[in-house]
Amino acid sequence: MVGYLNCRHVTQLEHAAARGELSRPKFFDPALEALWERGKQHELAYVDHLRAQGLSCVVVEGVDVSDEAVAQTIAAMRAGVDVIVQGALRGGSWAGRADILQRVDTPSDLGDWSYEAADTKLARETKGGTVLQLCLYSELIGEVQGTMPIFASVIPPWTDFAPERYRLADFAAYHRQVKQGLLGAIGTDKPAQTYPEPTSNCDICNWSTRCDKQRRDDDHLCLVAGISSMQIAELKDHDITTATALAELPLPLPWKPERGSKESLTRVREQARIQLESRASGELRYELLAPVAGFGLNCLPEPCEGDVFLDFEGDSFVGQHGLEYLLGFHFREKGEPQYRGLWALDRAGEKAAFETFIDFVLERKKVFPQLHVYHYGGYEPGALKRLMGRYGTREDELDSLLRGLVFVDLLSVVRHSLRAGVESYSIKKLEPLYGYVRDASLPDANLALNRLQVNLELNDAAGILPEDKQTVEAYNRDDCVSTEALRDWLEAERAKLLSRGLEVTRPEPGESGPSEGLSEWLERIMPLIEQLTADVPVDPQERSAEQHARWLLANLLEWHRREEKATWWEYFRLSDLSADELIDERAGLAGLTFLETVGGTAKCPIDRYSFPVQEADIRAGKGLRVWIGVEKGPR
Ligand code: SF4
Repeated sequence: MVGYLNCRHVTQLEHAAARGELSRPKFFDPALEALWERGKQHELAYVDHLRAQGLSCVVVEGVDVSDEAVAQTIAAMRAGVDVIVQGALRGGSWAGRADILQRVDTPSDLGDWSYEAADTKLARETKGGTVLQLCLYSELIGEVQGTMPIFASVIPPWTDFAPERYRLADFAAYHRQVKQGLLGAIGTDKPAQTYPEPTSNCDICNWSTRCDKQRRDDDHLCLVAGISSMQIAELKDHDITTATALAELPLPLPWKPERGSKESLTRVREQARIQLESRASGELRYELLAPVAGFGLNCLPEPCEGDVFLDFEGDSFVGQHGLEYLLGFHFREKGEPQYRGLWALDRAGEKAAFETFIDFVLERKKVFPQLHVYHYGGYEPGALKRLMGRYGTREDELDSLLRGLVFVDLLSVVRHSLRAGVESYSIKKLEPLYGYVRDASLPDANLALNRLQVNLELNDAAGILPEDKQTVEAYNRDDCVSTEALRDWLEAERAKLLSRGLEVTRPEPGESGPSEGLSEWLERIMPLIEQLTADVPVDPQERSAEQHARWLLANLLEWHRREEKATWWEYFRLSDLSADELIDERAGLAGLTFLETVGGTAKCPIDRYSFPVQEADIRAGKGLRVWIGVEKGPR
């Protein structure tokens, strides 16, 4: 059922495999294995937690819903066992294994008790599929005990096993609808015609190789870099279903789009064209876009001898908050390339790596005040902000680097300055443009990254192979050095534009020094924070309750400033996007056109605007900020 919810096509493929018409592909992904293993560990830890409360437990062995497993589950329910692990349930066309059946004091046909389903899940946010799965288990439990459970629970990680409770009646209608849909999809001899439209599950799906091949054979629109599902839907409404058809679409666009803007559709049309040209010629083609003030090559600061090129390796599945396990940076000392890879295999290492890097940049800035830190994509500044918040350290220092516009995102520069015949604008795909050849082979690096991350996720840093560490470090060094090579190539392209008489400017320097009133405030609270946290271990797992309370108290001193900062970071991130990017950005609404004033007062009017259909997270009651009166790039 969860598969059906994620992708209708997978249901058809699985159904065909069940009928023997297709063979199910073998798919081994060590990262998925690690995920499964961590899921198992979480379930076992929860069962231990229940046992420690003196509850009786029965484990139904195996993974199938066999007659024996179902009989064993029913017997345990009739006997009134407190906790049934991996209970096998079956009823009509439906069957499943619930992580936990937990006895509650609601009377049923079994006696003075009955059962509720609980699922131990690793996801930090519970997905709709999880709740639907619980609805199904609850229905099957109801058939055994003669009464439907009222609640079901999800046990998320890192919560001391505090259950999230779901009232099943709230989801019953949706559950019925999905069940009917699934039965309709497979309960007929004529399989429904589905297409492998890309979903967020494709990366972890057994059928991904087959689906990817089909899309390539069909020249599917999703092969065009940067195209959104909304644009694909808009194009399909006009019978444009292949990348080639998109590339050949006449310009200007012959219709006014119902979703998104004409400009963003024109952009993907041009992207399709250059991809097609590259494909036909067998060489990677690119073209420079006309410079727009405040974007692209206009954002490249003057190169400086002290410049630093930064790249993180992180794994969001380590522990509660993920781990930035390698912070690598490349720079030059008297023109000679230098690389430092700061490994962080635990919390203390992560904090130390962050502090070392910030201190390094600040020290270097004393010698090279004009230096910048280049990175590719938004991950690096995001990781630095996360680490600053997580450890409450170097806050002022990082803040001054951010306000000083020291960080330069080359992906943003690339996006606004050139169009290349690539399916994705990852740095690796662009390297042929500037002739960068990697030291570490990518397939070897991927294997080493996978193995190393599995070790970290399973809390086995000691088991990391030295050769994997070496390969990952070489891979990270490549990313850093490639970032420098890209910057140099962009500088050369900029020089070409200048030689053609076009105007390309340098960005204005950012603010320097601490913000007003901040130094005084920090002077007051820093000694207090140091006093409160002096003996508190970095890793929360190693703290006593009293130490953790002191750590919380110390962090509260900075709480309001930190919270406010996050809001402003988001505001400035959105402000830096072009009109085109804002259309695709869910956090904002773009393309607003004033219609009329519908109320309010002269000083505080209530205005009505229209805007093109776009996917957005804006909901009633959400606070909004307006960015007006500024030309946001090409419209
Ligand atoms: S690879 Fe993607 S499209 Fe294909 S079946 Fe799996 S989830 Fe669906």
